[in-house]
Amino acid sequence: MPYLLLGIDDTDWEGGGCTTYVMYSFIKYLDKENHVDSIVGLPRLTRLNPYVPFKTRGNASLSVIIRVSSEDEARDHVELMESLIDQLTRKEGKTSPGIAYMVIDHAADINGKLVWFYGKSVRDVVTIDLAHRVANSVGAKLRGGRGVIGALASLGFMPRDATYEFIAYRSEGSERPPIDVRDIRLWNDTTKPFTFLNLDGEQVLIEPHGPDPVLFGIRGDSPYHVLAMGNYLASKYGAIGWIIYMTNQGTDEHRSRINEGIPYMNVNFISTVINESFDERGHAHLVLSNSQEIIAYRHLGISRNLSGCIGCLVHAWGGVKPNDKLNLYIEGMRTLHDRYVKVKNPRCPVCGGPMESIGRAGLLRCKRCGFKDKLPRIIMPRNRWLLINPRMSEYRHLMKPQERIGLEGLALYIPRPFLWVY
Ligand SMILES: [Zn+2]
Repeated sequence: MPYLLLGIDDTDWEGGGCTTYVMYSFIKYLDKENHVDSIVGLPRLTRLNPYVPFKTRGNASLSVIIRVSSEDEARDHVELMESLIDQLTRKEGKTSPGIAYMVIDHAADINGKLVWFYGKSVRDVVTIDLAHRVANSVGAKLRGGRGVIGALASLGFMPRDATYEFIAYRSEGSERPPIDVRDIRLWNDTTKPFTFLNLDGEQVLIEPHGPDPVLFGIRGDSPYHVLAMGNYLASKYGAIGWIIYMTNQGTDEHRSRINEGIPYMNVNFISTVINESFDERGHAHLVLSNSQEIIAYRHLGISRNLSGCIGCLVHAWGGVKPNDKLNLYIEGMRTLHDRYVKVKNPRCPVCGGPMESIGRAGLLRCKRCGFKDKLPRIIMPRNRWLLINPRMSEYRHLMKPQERIGLEGLALYIPRPFLWVY
């Protein structure tokens, strides 16, 4: 039996809308017609390169794989999606919705070129022209504007690592109720490490602040944990419905192996820090020995960790933006080698008390018993093997939170819950 791959993108605009809501509405129609079991796995929410200059608010694209009995049935699904986009999208500003679809005979027939195109869309800048060429060569059809790029890219999402998001929606025009931090703390403690980015101290991170119809989103590595937490909160805070997506969020999929400054890409530099300064707004500016400048915004909350880095060998990564020169805006940094050493006096060999230096080279005296001797100092490398990441509230969609380390790929081995859309 054939399969329809159907992707959409770019249906949100500055004043509202959300591409995930268009997909949710589509799935609800299928549900009403008892077709929801023909969906293979879960619908997929794919975030694309956060550094591209043209993008909508969330830079999210979505896709779904549906078992169909005929080409006619596939066409009905595509038409339904098109009419939903027309109903739910206002073509304002940069908004330029697009659809991509193709019918394949076996679910395993997803073309390698499509997978390549997805990878390029997550890490690099792609043109609408390239999208058309790839679509032609794999037999996909594109309709609409710039959104066809993300729509096509989402069809090629063949994850090696993935996470889930439970997204709850609110009714149109309703205010988002304030979510009680105690609810989130309780559920965070109960579901961790299988949910992530719920809380940053006392700040609740699950609520968006934009004009979109999303009430909240619970991210995690297990669909059952996001379901348990999400379902409780959805009924308590009056959601009109919800869905679980499989996503590439929190997987670092946007990071490249490239180590030169290429605009709009996430790249790596391994170099020694030779200068550091803070500007009047508190942003940290570091200069590396390869004369590359890297910038850490104050609001990332990592500037404090960067001070005292001069002389250290570091691995920094982040997005490159061309201002007057190519600057790296850092997402994270590791200290590979720390040049600082701490010199300490030894303890007294007689009584174990603290020893102090008494002027002449190397001579130490015990503060407690007065014992004097020339003893070697203790040299302690500071060796901070720092992994610096932004504070939780500043994570972008694709960045892997430290809470996820060790859970990579787990999501792909967990079966779909019986109930995943409501
Ligand atoms: Zn002593």
